[in-house]
Amino acid sequence: MPEIFVGGEWRDALQHARRTIRCPADGQVVAEIDEGGADDTALAVGAAYDAFHHGPWPHSSSRERGDLLLRVADLLERDKAAVARMESLDTGKRMVESEYDVDDVVRVFRHYGHVAGDDAGRVVDSGDAGVVSRIVREPVGVCGLITPWNYPLLQTSWKVAPCLAAGNTFVLKPSELTPHTAIHLMRLLAEAGLPEGVGNLVVGPGPAAGAPLSSDPRVDLVSFTGGLLTGRRIMAEAATTVKRVALELGGKNPNIVFADADLEVALDYALTAVFLHSGQVCSAGARLVVEESIRDEFVDEVVERACRIRLGGPFDDKAETGPLTSVQHLEKVEKYVAAGLAEGAVLRCGGGRPEDPALADGYYYLPTVLDRCTSDMSVTQDESFGPVLTVETFSGEDEAVSIANDSIYGLAGAVWTQDAGKAQRVAGRLRMGTVWINDYHPYVPQAEWGGYKQSGFGRELGRTGLEEYQETKHVWHNIAPRAQHWFGAGDQG
Ligand code: NAD
Repeated sequence: MPEIFVGGEWRDALQHARRTIRCPADGQVVAEIDEGGADDTALAVGAAYDAFHHGPWPHSSSRERGDLLLRVADLLERDKAAVARMESLDTGKRMVESEYDVDDVVRVFRHYGHVAGDDAGRVVDSGDAGVVSRIVREPVGVCGLITPWNYPLLQTSWKVAPCLAAGNTFVLKPSELTPHTAIHLMRLLAEAGLPEGVGNLVVGPGPAAGAPLSSDPRVDLVSFTGGLLTGRRIMAEAATTVKRVALELGGKNPNIVFADADLEVALDYALTAVFLHSGQVCSAGARLVVEESIRDEFVDEVVERACRIRLGGPFDDKAETGPLTSVQHLEKVEKYVAAGLAEGAVLRCGGGRPEDPALADGYYYLPTVLDRCTSDMSVTQDESFGPVLTVETFSGEDEAVSIANDSIYGLAGAVWTQDAGKAQRVAGRLRMGTVWINDYHPYVPQAEWGGYKQSGFGRELGRTGLEEYQETKHVWHNIAPRAQHWFGAGDQG
């Protein structure tokens, strides 16, 4: 069955490269995919370009666009079980987590369905009674949307929903490892009545199918979620045609625990912060930064609980977390831990693949705690994107802030204390796009998400997440025009 969607039609890839998608939990074949390349992307961009410049969508009413997004939300709810299953087979994550993800995706479509029409621009005082001066929001144009494998449909919804709400057309390039929910979303968009050419999909490898989105002059904006190195390449390439770029990149996120925190709750969340989805979360709290006076008791308990985490596949009801996405990623995490140990980190638990023969065919890595780390080590600076927690200690607010900010990244972080004043002071000094106080991981579609520093720029979600996909135009209307005679006419004699 063709997997490339261009101009409202499913079609075979022009280049016919096959990829086998395997479930990371057991290596079983999920599907054989016919992948596209640069020619397919060029065709898809052409369809998005025609739909933007000659089609009705950019001029449709915001209510019409909002209603379509609400219909998509309903269809996703209808297909929730099937969509969650697809996501779990592609990613290896537990079914229950995929079901939460689908619920979140529904909320994102509903949110943008409701806000699509609630900004009519503004009238500004021009200082002249004979002039009406308006600021209006318009779609940016053709958007290239490139997404990763860890939250495939969720990351896609953060882009597709505001992109459509604003009246743009798009070409979506999902991760080559996890394409199935993106394919299904295109079916639902068509079923909901999206006009031909407005939404297009190319599945295929990043350099072949994704890179042309950054260089094609017909593309106006590239919104990318993925790794730092890919983000740098996209930004450099997009500069040649001065495209708008939004980058949601990696993170190395500090979870700061003060001695006066509710330690039972902080402990519980310290585990969720880093081991959820085996650490394959951009905002994972992979750096535990704990106050020196409680370090021994706190870290001992984290280690004890980490050792008890049960690994397993999507359909194992007793599993608490799943595998890594691929054998290549597993090997990367192994190298990362080896580098940390070579630099002097102390292995407290994990540090290898599980011995359980039932897990032997999957890409599992044990929940790992590396103690006695300092911020000059590669393990505290580099993103592992695996189930690896590093431990650093501090004394006092200033040192906590300085350790937490000692990173090229600035995506997210948390602070645990029962002193509200301290919590607010520290939150205010952290150079991160999201700070949680006495919590970890929650987000809502109403609130902006994105990074400081090399975690990227631009924001997804919230009002700014819609504005990313809008141009701002000033319309100056002189309703009583008179000649000015600046040149010529008044100077004859
Ligand atoms: P990746 O950069 O390898 O790939 C992401 C996407 O980019 C994929 O679709 C890939 O095919 C495509 N791609 C690869 N090379 C490309 C190129 N030259 N031009 C255009 N597209 C290209 O990242 P990944 O391994 O899929 O995802 C993991 C990374 O994503 C982690 O670093 C993680 O922190 C980050 N991430 C960030 C957020 C966030 O909100 N900030 C969310 C999720 C993931």
